[in-house]
Amino acid sequence: MSYNNKIGWQFDNTYSKLPDSMLTKLAPTPVKAPELVILNHSLSKKLGLNFSSISDKNLASIFSGNLLPEGSDTIAQAYAGHQFGYFTILGDGRAIIIGEHLSKNNKRFDIQFKGSGKTPYSRNGDGRAALGPMLREYIISEAMHHLGIPTTRSLAVVKTGEDVIRETPLIGAILTRVAESHIRVGTFQYAVIAKDQKDLKTLFDYTINRHYPNIKDSKTPAIDLLKIVIDKQIKLVLDWMRVGFIHGVMNTDNMAISGETIDYGPCAFMDLYDPETVFSSIDQNGRYAFFNQPGITKWNLARFAECLVPLINEDKNISIQIATEIVNNFSEIYEKKWFEMMSKKLGLLGEESEDKKLIMNLLTWMHKNKADYTNTFCFLMNQTLEKNKIYDNQNFLNWKKQWQERLKKNNNSPEKSLKLMRSNNPLVIPRNHKVEEALEAANNDDLNPLQNLLKILEKPYENSEQINKYRSPAPPSDKIYKTFCGT
Ligand code: AMP
Ligand code: MG
Repeated sequence: MSYNNKIGWQFDNTYSKLPDSMLTKLAPTPVKAPELVILNHSLSKKLGLNFSSISDKNLASIFSGNLLPEGSDTIAQAYAGHQFGYFTILGDGRAIIIGEHLSKNNKRFDIQFKGSGKTPYSRNGDGRAALGPMLREYIISEAMHHLGIPTTRSLAVVKTGEDVIRETPLIGAILTRVAESHIRVGTFQYAVIAKDQKDLKTLFDYTINRHYPNIKDSKTPAIDLLKIVIDKQIKLVLDWMRVGFIHGVMNTDNMAISGETIDYGPCAFMDLYDPETVFSSIDQNGRYAFFNQPGITKWNLARFAECLVPLINEDKNISIQIATEIVNNFSEIYEKKWFEMMSKKLGLLGEESEDKKLIMNLLTWMHKNKADYTNTFCFLMNQTLEKNKIYDNQNFLNWKKQWQERLKKNNNSPEKSLKLMRSNNPLVIPRNHKVEEALEAANNDDLNPLQNLLKILEKPYENSEQINKYRSPAPPSDKIYKTFCGT
């Protein structure tokens, strides 16, 4: 029996048939001694894949790209992007899409290896990835999925048996990423400057066919696509703000047209509430700080709108006017939805004139008093781990009294509020110190902390005794937590 039949791969590759200018066909560079670190069984199942009869040795060969499945058509995608505001030609410098797999309900997913060797887009990079950053992507992307936030997912990580040279030699690894597609704002930016003017329309038609076939027959498909993508990105960034997620590198090449969170590099979750929180060591000006994320989302969407200008109307001026108006609506829609989201976090039903003040006052108090973002909402849901003096503060108690008065309005009941709050406020997030602990152990061949952490992150809204060890922020320290791109 062939591997495909045993495993269930159903490749149906469409992106690889796009014009040559949009991609390069090439295979992953084989690695010396691949070894499986982790395989995501529940995701496999969801994809209609079954690896149970495949030996560890063959799994390692499969997920390193040493043994390509039948039907794969391996490519590196070309794209461009604004990195920290500056336009650059990029492309998959260390990633290869092996194909598009159709799951049982005919849902299409890109299967991509990250860290699979040099490509024509590698620039000065080695095309490789290290174990720590690949496991970090695995942990955070799976956590995001279980938090109910659209995201690419992680199917497997293998060690390559080769060192990657960074500041010091690190253990080389490859991550298998599963995405609805890897079409980014930057892919459109690349098509706009392509030699062949037809590339943009080709990519546009392809994107609509693949992601939004419902607007295929629209008289204004470019306007519709812009509106849909804006809507998806507003929802996405609201989810990030809800759970305290900081992406860290919101370049236009890291914004997916599907609306999934993509590219987990220096991302991390905020613990103490500070809107200016930045973890990434390379984000020196705080461009991608927590509170800047909605503004940057809008900025990136404006770049997407610019790409669509030739497709909106024959008259460029009219196009620009339409696109500008649509993008400018972002702020008002976002603000309205942000208040709705925060109201849910506080269990408020309906809308009252005092709500905005109530929300802002809590955030201001949290900021001033260095309160933990996640755990403050846990406290309000009576899901506190241990007594914390911070909540004895008189200003907080005054605020709480006002909040409790407000809760009574609009036919509310304590049960209704609590239910709303419990479904919007996670009890557990991937705490930075727990992620680091798991990565350090994995780098020393101990996978237990990683497996335990992943298990806990599967049910972030449910209470259980097991999660208690994972709910506290790191003890105070002089060291500011920093993350790195892991390139
Ligand atoms: P990212 O910050 O992960 O979005 O990466 C930005 C660009 O750098 C993309 O084109 C990546 O493919 C490329 N890149 C990142 N790391 C490497 C590497 N080690 N070798 C080659 N290209 C890389
Ligand atoms: Mg990227």
